[in-house]
Amino acid sequence: MQPPDHRSASHKPGSLIPGRAVFPHRDLTGIDGLQPHEITFLLDEAEQWIEVNRSRAKSERPLDGLTLINAFFENSTRTLLSFEIAGKRMGADVVNMHAAQSSVKKGETLIDTAVTLNAMRADMLVIRHSSSGAVKLIASKVDCPVLNAGDGWHEHPTQALLDALTIRRRRGSVAGQRVVICGDLMHSRVARSNILALTALAAEVRVVAPSTLMPAAIERMGVTPFTDFDAALDGADVVMMLRLQNERMDGGFIPSTREFHLRYGLNSERLRRAKPDALVMHPGPMNRGVEISSAVADHPERSAITEQVEMGVAVRMACLDVLTRRARGVEGWA
Ligand code: ASP
Repeated sequence: MQPPDHRSASHKPGSLIPGRAVFPHRDLTGIDGLQPHEITFLLDEAEQWIEVNRSRAKSERPLDGLTLINAFFENSTRTLLSFEIAGKRMGADVVNMHAAQSSVKKGETLIDTAVTLNAMRADMLVIRHSSSGAVKLIASKVDCPVLNAGDGWHEHPTQALLDALTIRRRRGSVAGQRVVICGDLMHSRVARSNILALTALAAEVRVVAPSTLMPAAIERMGVTPFTDFDAALDGADVVMMLRLQNERMDGGFIPSTREFHLRYGLNSERLRRAKPDALVMHPGPMNRGVEISSAVADHPERSAITEQVEMGVAVRMACLDVLTRRARGVEGWA
C-alpha cells in the first residue's frame, strides 16, 4: 500500500513561484514574518525527509561540503541532537559549540562571538540563547543563514513547524482543528511560535493558564484565553501541554506544583473532556506528574510525543536544505 501523501495540493518539494524563490528569507529567526504559504512550503518539504529517514539508505546528501555550527548558549537535548542528526544525514560537517565550554564564560560579548563564528566561514548557524532577540542580533552580524533554535521567551520556530507537521499528518489538516495549549504561556517560546503558526494555518487555538502565567492581551494573537482547563478541553482535537519554565521565573507564579497539577495537569480523566480521538502533544522535556501524567504521556494511541521528536529531524532537514539553496546555486534560488 502507498503511504498517504500529506503534502498540500499547491506545493511539490522544490517548487517555485516563477521568478522568485518560494521561501525568500535568508534566515529562520521566527514564525513571525512568515506567510502561511511559506509555512506550508516548509511542511511540504519536510514530508520527503520523513521518508528518507525511515528508509535504511539515507543517501541524499545535498549539504556535502558545507559546515553547520550549532551554537547553544542554553541547554538542549532534542533540538541540539536533531539539528546535529539532520545536518549529518544530509552530508554537512557539523560542529557543536556549547557555551559552557566557550569563551562566552570568559566574558566575550555576543557580537564578538558572532563575528568569530562568521570568520570561520560557517555555511549555516543554528543558535539557541537565553535572551529574546539574541538570535536576530547574531543574524545581523553574519553572512550565512541563521536558524533560531530557541531564544528566551521569544520564539522556537522549528518546534512550531514540527508540531504543525505532526498535527497535519495525524489529523489530516491543521485548518479547523481545535488546539488547546495549556501551561506556562507567559515564559514559553514554544507557545508563542505555535500560536503564530497554528493561527496562520487557520487552526482554532485556545490557550489555558492560571492568570499569573497568562500574557496580557494574548487574545490579540487570535486565540481564546481560558483559566478553566476543563472548559477549554471541550471538543478539543489536540491538547498541547507546556512545562513550567522555572528557569525563567523570578517569583511565585503558582502556589505549588501540586496545586498546579490539580488545576492544569493533563490526566486520563481530564482528557475525556476532549474529543475521543484527541491528540496529546508536549515539546519536552516533560515534568511527569506536574503538567502531564505518565498514563497520558505514554498513551499508545493518543500521545504524539515521540512522533513530534521524529518530525523534528525531518523539519530541521527541510529548513537546512531550503535555507542553503541560494548558496548552493540550486536552480531558481539564486
Ligand atoms: N524544549 C522546549 C524549549 O526549548 C520546551 C521547554 O524547554 O519546555 O523551549
